[in-house]
Amino acid sequence: MSDKAPVVVSYGAGTNSTAVLIEMARRGEPVDLITFADTGGERPETYAYLEMFSGWLVQRGMPPIVTVRKGGRQETLEENCHRMNMLPSVAYGFKSCSQKYKGEPQDAYCNNWEPAKKAWANGGKVVKIIGYDADEPHRAKFYEDKKFVWRYPLLEWGMGRAECIEAIRAAGLQLPGKSSCFFCPNSKPQEILALPDDLKERAIAMERNAQLTNVKGLGRRWRWEDLIASDRDQLRLFDNSQQEMPCGCYDG
Ligand code: SF4
Repeated sequence: MSDKAPVVVSYGAGTNSTAVLIEMARRGEPVDLITFADTGGERPETYAYLEMFSGWLVQRGMPPIVTVRKGGRQETLEENCHRMNMLPSVAYGFKSCSQKYKGEPQDAYCNNWEPAKKAWANGGKVVKIIGYDADEPHRAKFYEDKKFVWRYPLLEWGMGRAECIEAIRAAGLQLPGKSSCFFCPNSKPQEILALPDDLKERAIAMERNAQLTNVKGLGRRWRWEDLIASDRDQLRLFDNSQQEMPCGCYDG
């Protein structure tokens, strides 16, 4: 750890934040902490990628990926939805599931992380690295507050989506695929249908358990259960292209 401001990367396990870390490693840029917030409902391939990529980073002198969870508690977002007879809040047009299960656990970890506390005690700040790419500059809204300085390296380096994919491939790694809860209401029909059967069943169980009035199911205007039971000719009925609601979980 240097005397400079500690550098924290919020890793989303998607294409953009993977590319940021690969490029920072390649450029020899210092990173002190990498956090990933686990809702408990990440896709199996995301958990596998996290383990592989954490090892890849460590081999290159970077810190391992620290997985954090909401309140450090055992209740996952899926369990919370069952207990509350609800769907994730993004199904109702709110972003609090992303905020509570992704943003807050990473902030809480950082707030109790000794190098950050030391920097703040000495009047310094922590540099927060965010992986928004050069094709989405509108997402970069924060630059500085009392505790943090936000940095968007992909914007600085002019790396858009295509360059991020290229950087991951050039490092000899597979693309991470989409990182989101397997039951995320922002999922597209083809993503839902591609889920393994056990995850489809868990999503249907969540949908059946929810007491719904304003939305019909995890698809908002339709139920995942109906989509999963449908045949190819019926798929056009489940087009949700108008419904996607970008949230803090989106990572390329
Ligand atoms: S991936 Fe979807 S369901 Fe999961 S926390 Fe983010 S917005 Fe909510």
